[in-house]
Amino acid sequence: MRITLAQAMGTCFGVQDAIDLALQPEFRDKLTVVGQLVHNPQTMERLRENGVRVIERDQIDSIATEAVMVTAHGASDATKQMLRDRGLTVYDATCPLVIRLHKLARFLEREGWFPVVVGEADHVEVRGVIGNLKFAAVVHDETDLPALAGHSRIGIVSQTTNRLEKVQKLVEAIRALPWVESVRFIDTICQPVKDRQGAINVLLGQDIDLGLVIGGRNSANTRKLRDLILDRGIEAHHFERAADLDPAWFVGKQHVGITAGTSTPQDVIAEVHRAVQVIAAGQTAGSASLPG
Ligand code: SF4
Repeated sequence: MRITLAQAMGTCFGVQDAIDLALQPEFRDKLTVVGQLVHNPQTMERLRENGVRVIERDQIDSIATEAVMVTAHGASDATKQMLRDRGLTVYDATCPLVIRLHKLARFLEREGWFPVVVGEADHVEVRGVIGNLKFAAVVHDETDLPALAGHSRIGIVSQTTNRLEKVQKLVEAIRALPWVESVRFIDTICQPVKDRQGAINVLLGQDIDLGLVIGGRNSANTRKLRDLILDRGIEAHHFERAADLDPAWFVGKQHVGITAGTSTPQDVIAEVHRAVQVIAAGQTAGSASLPG
């Protein structure tokens, strides 16, 4: 069984910078992170081991530190101000590419377009963007389009982790709405995500028959990487760690491709890679010892 690692995978610079900031020694036992800093359980465990408190947004009343961190996914200005108004020092780890998305959404609004964010309405990144706009709509799929009724000039941005083809399809569907006169689309999908999606296409071009996608269960970009493989009719599994590997996935497989989402640490990828190598070696030994 061949094993090929994707050329681009794992932690992106935005997530890494946020982790590095949270792990600075001076923050030990003095920092609260609001929401998952990254959608990865192993990294969240490491943060907790380093004395970083992680709470959900509805637990803001329980913050017991003076310093609080906004995650790489960002937050609205109103949320940051609300934290400052409580006397907290806010450390902002918003990824520069999420800041770019915020700026472009506001630009479209300023220029008189009705802003539409293609993404998941309940995702923290999307909530942050919407929170900075007076009026806006979130479109996840075509069933959301009737909500755009009455808006003839529509400006579109995307959640940073989307698949470009999906967003382009929705842009075309919006253009075709009978009441829409003009559409301006600004591509805000981030380059590290595009690199990871492109690397999957390379794997698919190499005829993998099994895709292993490593990342947190709640990681949107990891789910999309798995879907890219499934959409091509290839078996793919999204899991969090080497212990999740199921030997049954590998039965009869010739070529395994491994990739990982933008919040998956390199040591977790290396651990999975080693475990798959052991499974592959076991298969070879097993077939070598078959009688006849
Ligand atoms: S996935 Fe993209 S936008 Fe999100 S943190 Fe990473 S680099 Fe930034």
